[in-house]
Amino acid sequence: MTGKVNQEYEVIIIGGGPAGLTAGLYTSRARLSSLLIERGLVGGQIADAELVENYPGFAQGISGLELGQSMHQQATKYGLNTVIAEATGIELKGEKKVVKTSKGNFTTKAVIIASGSERRKLGIPGEEKLTGRGVSYCATCDAPFFKEKPVVVVGGGDAAITETLYLVKFASRVIVIHRRDQLRASRILEEKALAEPKMEFLWNSVVEAVEGEDVVKRLSLRQVITGKKSTLDVAGVFIAIGLKPSTDYLKGVLPLDEAGYIITNDKMETEIPGIFAAGDIRLNSARQAITAAGDGATAAIFAEKFLSR
Ligand code: NAP
Repeated sequence: MTGKVNQEYEVIIIGGGPAGLTAGLYTSRARLSSLLIERGLVGGQIADAELVENYPGFAQGISGLELGQSMHQQATKYGLNTVIAEATGIELKGEKKVVKTSKGNFTTKAVIIASGSERRKLGIPGEEKLTGRGVSYCATCDAPFFKEKPVVVVGGGDAAITETLYLVKFASRVIVIHRRDQLRASRILEEKALAEPKMEFLWNSVVEAVEGEDVVKRLSLRQVITGKKSTLDVAGVFIAIGLKPSTDYLKGVLPLDEAGYIITNDKMETEIPGIFAAGDIRLNSARQAITAAGDGATAAIFAEKFLSR
């Protein structure tokens, strides 16, 4: 990893998912000195996907990890620098911007914010304590730990059903617990899920607590219509209840909507000249890898125009 503290860059990109990696490819190829700041693995959320079937150009699909790594290699080939660090804030100093991170400060003239979103938590007793010990937010990462064991998936959207369809390859039973009586997942996923013999649904139900000393043993449940309480013995619980934008470090720097998303125009410009945003972090993003990549390219092109002014 090649980013240097206290060095000035023309563009700093925060976040290494499809939006940030595409922005980095475009700015580096435009010969702008560019630094990508990523806190974990490059690829972002797509790196968790076992198979990506809807990224154009891969007729047989491609693993999310491979897609992310390949995007990073492509951008690095044109000179993109990368540092693994957590962005903690942005300070405006006249026309310059100082991006603060866990590894020090980096100065730049333009910033492209592409830090995406993170998975929402249920916020119930036992969830935090047993994370990594039966509570998971990523089936592709953890499903093999639950071979022939019963597991629960909480949620009713595309993410929950995608997780479920992966888990049926490993678990003995997969029980989807959803707070309403119908899914909001896309029809094609719903049809696949309903055709799976290992799948079960508990409708109108919520998980109130995750129980177990060292590992998950059971869940406390409540039926939301009758109010009836019950328990369910399981080895794992996969929580897939949506996403929240990773913008806590931007409070007070940029105007955010009430859910924390960044408002941009169609050039990916924010209210602050020289600060752009791309991908899932934008208000009304379509939240797909391909649209995030498109946003990243747009942000990079307008960042280049901004710098040449
Ligand atoms: P989502 O579509 O917002 O669905 C979240 C689900 O969690 C909803 O069913 C919601 O219930 C439920 N939920 C929210 N808060 C809850 C709580 N506190 N307790 C219990 N349940 C709760 O989020 P997502 O499934 O993570 O998807 C996010 C985006 O990524 C979507 O645009 C999706 O299309 C996309 N995505 C696509 C794919 C794919 O195409 N293969 C895969 C994954 C994600 P209600 O329905 O009652 O609100």
